[in-house]
Amino acid sequence: MLAVHHVAPRRVETREVPDPDPGPGEVVVRLGTGGICGSDLHVFRRDPWKWSPVLGHEPAGVVHRLGEGVEHLAVGDRVTLYHYQGCGHCRHCRGGEIHWCKEIGAPGWHFSGSCGEQVVMKAANALPLPDALTLDDGALIACGAGTTWSALRKVTPTAEDTAVVFGLGPIGLCGVAMLKAFGCRVIAIGRRTARLRMAEVFGADRVIDIDRDDDPVATVRSDYPDGVALAYETTGQPAAQRQMINTLGYFGRAACVGIGNKEPAVNLSAITGKQLTLRGSHVMNFAEYDSLARFMIDHDLRLHRMVTHRFPFAEGQAAFDAADSGDSAKVVLSADV
Ligand SMILES: [Zn+2]
Ligand SMILES: [Zn+2]
Repeated sequence: MLAVHHVAPRRVETREVPDPDPGPGEVVVRLGTGGICGSDLHVFRRDPWKWSPVLGHEPAGVVHRLGEGVEHLAVGDRVTLYHYQGCGHCRHCRGGEIHWCKEIGAPGWHFSGSCGEQVVMKAANALPLPDALTLDDGALIACGAGTTWSALRKVTPTAEDTAVVFGLGPIGLCGVAMLKAFGCRVIAIGRRTARLRMAEVFGADRVIDIDRDDDPVATVRSDYPDGVALAYETTGQPAAQRQMINTLGYFGRAACVGIGNKEPAVNLSAITGKQLTLRGSHVMNFAEYDSLARFMIDHDLRLHRMVTHRFPFAEGQAAFDAADSGDSAKVVLSADV
């Protein structure tokens, strides 16, 4: 199979490597879509890390080979792969929070990821995709859509809420689409023309370009002097974290998924005074997949529309360059399966 190997800062090479073999209880999936994530780009821009040189944790495709003892799947089934696998029996695995398992394993990290044509994982991680969802939808579920679903459910959006989304990468765009489906009025704050336009495609009522507006809080408050009810913070940037606090009104709620900033950026007194609720959220709980798939179908989200660039696995460098440029929404590696 072909696999895109990270070889140097901003350099990848597509190489021919042996097809993976499924062990007992495992499945090999032939990918129709392998998403490139912002977290892959952080690695791409630096020296290769000690983990897998084949990055990517957004795999969707068809079941290609079954390991011994796997009976609930069949060759040809369309699946997305939940991208953390664990021991299966500790309290975190039993609770669906597999990312906390001591025996955690993930494609693109501990083993070859979705920048290769085939991925081998525990069969329990292969989640059948309903016919109404595309393989691109499946790749988005593996990361951005799942992360967003879990985060937003923690703050219970309603049609009474105006919501501000900070950051319009794929995770923020999923937020725009889902918050609209919950009935919220949505204000999308970000940069880059392709992403701002995509926020409008997914229904944003107002888009604020931070390269043209140096005080987005004042812009939001010009329409909402008392602040807004809900925020979704996807950037992890201190400036956006402060803006999030300042756009929220009394009893405001925020879901925060952005990571990276290690400095205190938020005034805790403001949280106390306004009686805010901030919820941190990591990846989707394993058990949330079914409700997410149902929501995407029932609300016709068609998240796959955010794929702006598609490359064959042989063109890994072009794919990473397109993702690195920022002039894209979602970049995927793709093959006919
Ligand atoms: Zn991702
Ligand atoms: Zn476990």
